[in-house]
Amino acid sequence: MQLQSDICVIGNGAIGKTAALGFAQAGLSVTLLAPEASAGAGGASAPASTWDVRVYALNQVAHGLLSSLKVWGALDADRIAAVDAMVVNGDGAQAGRLAFDAYGARAGTLAWIVEDRNLNAALDAALRFAPDMRTLAGRAVRLQTEPGRATVLLDNGDAIEASLVVGADGGQSWVRAQCDIDIDYRSYGQRAIVTNFECDEPHRGAAYQWFTSSEGIVALLPLPGNRVSLVWSAPEALAETLLREPLEQLAERVAQLPGHPLGRLRPLQPECAKAFPLHLLRTRALVAPQVALVGDAAHIVHPLAGQGMNLGFADIAALLNAVTAREPHRSCGDERVLGRYARARKEDILLMQIATDGLERLFATDFEPIRLMRNIGLNLVDKLPVIKRKLIAQAMGR
Ligand SMILES: Cc1cc2nc3c(=O)[nH]c(=O)nc-3n(C[C@H](O)[C@H](O)[C@H](O)COP(=O)(O)OP(=O)(O)OC[C@H]3O[C@@H](n4cnc5c(N)ncnc54)[C@H](O)[C@@H]3O)c2cc1C
Repeated sequence: MQLQSDICVIGNGAIGKTAALGFAQAGLSVTLLAPEASAGAGGASAPASTWDVRVYALNQVAHGLLSSLKVWGALDADRIAAVDAMVVNGDGAQAGRLAFDAYGARAGTLAWIVEDRNLNAALDAALRFAPDMRTLAGRAVRLQTEPGRATVLLDNGDAIEASLVVGADGGQSWVRAQCDIDIDYRSYGQRAIVTNFECDEPHRGAAYQWFTSSEGIVALLPLPGNRVSLVWSAPEALAETLLREPLEQLAERVAQLPGHPLGRLRPLQPECAKAFPLHLLRTRALVAPQVALVGDAAHIVHPLAGQGMNLGFADIAALLNAVTAREPHRSCGDERVLGRYARARKEDILLMQIATDGLERLFATDFEPIRLMRNIGLNLVDKLPVIKRKLIAQAMGR
């Protein structure tokens, strides 16, 4: 069977689904290729009473894009927490502290915490109503390109022909590999452990973060009610220990962090923690003939700033913009069109890679003078409203 569409999106994570939806709503025909095992799975199968341990802090760019696609309004609003303030703690005897809030940033909200399950359920529902949209389960085995056209061959002999192939197939991207796009890859030697807790004291919409040199980076993100979501980016050996311990012990460890304001923590879903190996991935190019990469296929950053998914949403917004604003004689996968997309995203991605990687390295060192400097730095930035506002604006995606 030979299928034809303007766009073929490969990968059915939140980024692939959003890209497919965006193109379909812009009036283009779209085929979304999902791996066989996960086709149709939106993560919505778990009981609604439980809280997904996979959550994202989404910024204004993500909010804007999802709103324009009518997805934000379809999210379960009762399960979204607004982040109104953020407190960053340094480490050691003279731990620095940096605090900012939505009021100081002249914004209604700094970010929103959204569960993966909530996001995927809303995207799946929107995709069902999208015009000229086809979702296919299958395994791509070859990508052939010629000027104006790409053909994705599947292992069952089917083929999808499109003007533009969008690689949204995550960090191990098959699409990227087919295009021979070089990458820089570095493991952080850490795993992020995620789980949810109930807390004694109200979080009042604040997100808390602790940077430590020996135990990694700990973040507590607000969930609705007296609940918080933990993201602990721990060095491998510590991660092993944390995963072996009962969740009550993990809760106890977190509650003992210096200045921890939420009182006693209790595991929200006993026996439920997940771990993700952390690495940095830079691609040498975002595009190849008839191909554009988006999301983790294009870049992976350390989750310390909660920006990976946000970068992916910004990729989609830029790609949609380049494709829909193209001149009438250009096709969706035209070299110029893709060049505009790549240029539009280059600086933002580079800045985020430098910032997150730099922060991770800065706080990973035990060297006392550096520890002192970084704590002074935190305190200094805390007292410089102009710099503080610029940092917040960057994180918010403004
Ligand atoms: C602990 C942790 C916390 C994070 N917190 C935040 C946060 O707060 N805010 C934020 O913005 N970001 C955050 N991130 C980053 C965010 O999770 C990722 O950037 C985001 O999930 C990437 O989405 P994606 O759709 O590009 O990739 P993925 O989620 O990896 O999805 C890729 C999809 O492609 C499919 N696929 C793979 N291969 C193929 C193939 N050959 N054919 C077809 N389909 C294929 C997969 O099945 C999958 O569905 C965090 C990351 C971690 C690890």
